[in-house]
Amino acid sequence: MGKGGSAGKSSAVERLGPLAATIPEPSKEITKGSIRAAIPPHLFQRSYVHSLGHLVMDLLWVAATWLLALQAASVLPSGFAPLVWAAYWFYQGINLTALWVLAHECGHGGFTDSRLVNDIVGFVLHSALLTPYFSWAITHAKHHHYTNHMTNGETWVPSTANPEKASVKFAKSPIGTIRRIVVVALLGWYTYLFTNATGAKQNAGQSHFSPSSRALFKAKDANLVRASNLGMIACLAVLAKCVSVWGFSAVFFNYLVPQTICNFYLCAITFMQHTHESVPHFNSEEWTWLRGALSTIDRSMGSHVDWRLHHIVDSHVVHHIFSDMPFYGAKAATPYVKEHLGIYYKSNLGSKVLGSEYLGYWKDFYSSMSRAVVVGVGEDNFMWFR
Ligand SMILES: [Zn+2]
Repeated sequence: MGKGGSAGKSSAVERLGPLAATIPEPSKEITKGSIRAAIPPHLFQRSYVHSLGHLVMDLLWVAATWLLALQAASVLPSGFAPLVWAAYWFYQGINLTALWVLAHECGHGGFTDSRLVNDIVGFVLHSALLTPYFSWAITHAKHHHYTNHMTNGETWVPSTANPEKASVKFAKSPIGTIRRIVVVALLGWYTYLFTNATGAKQNAGQSHFSPSSRALFKAKDANLVRASNLGMIACLAVLAKCVSVWGFSAVFFNYLVPQTICNFYLCAITFMQHTHESVPHFNSEEWTWLRGALSTIDRSMGSHVDWRLHHIVDSHVVHHIFSDMPFYGAKAATPYVKEHLGIYYKSNLGSKVLGSEYLGYWKDFYSSMSRAVVVGVGEDNFMWFR
């Protein structure tokens, strides 16, 4: 153990609140084994009926939302068109994210007991949403392996720049925060895929599309990276065909806008589950796998969206500890894990805006985006936002 631990923990909690609590290392009371023992064993079981049922349900939601929007556009006066499209984009963005989450589960092996079924479903869904299935599953496993690790972390590794620097002060200002959010929304996902942006510093510039990105992939992964690229090329070919038949604006309005919203959700959700101004990151002296996993924060987008997104937002702590558990198991296991972890279970169910947890989530997103920009070493040797 480094200089951190229980002594540093108590002062951080006093200063920053319960989200700052970090398990001492070593910890006898809380281990991966003790957390597993706190969860009823049946919650680890994957069910074909349940998982495939959710897949069918998600596909029906996509179709129903689309048909409803077409119907509304055809019966309402043309002045309502902007409203119809806005509503369609909003809800279809959620539907596509739900499908994307199921493919994420496939990559973890949590969808069904069959690797083949998982890979077929995950490959088709992620390719259709322009995500390289195997390539991303490999780097996502790294994210799980090195959560909140300052040098090996895979996503949203914070900067260690001097907080007095003009560029950092600008990033924290309202205009700087809005600029950061717009960049994340429009370019964040593909910038990450092409250049590993926000990943570990030494891996900057590494592409998810290149089998020779040695920091991301092993030599044996080369064909999986190529297969992922082919999946995306096949999707682009289908889109090109759609453009030639229906025109670019139809593809843009029906698919590209909600798909871009889905990409924004991915970036925002990953950021929000592991970043809060009161939650530390760790250098290699202090990091342990469990400390990283327990730095995950459960949040909420309101009960309906949480449910539609297969509880990726409100049962993420359990997902990070047991990533091949099915999502319905992770949701049901969360109260048990919460009780076992005590102060070390992090949740920020957040504020409401106009009575809405969904709007409250985005208010919190803005606030974390503006405050959680750079970290520095604290007295306890943990890395804290400042
Ligand atoms: Zn995951």
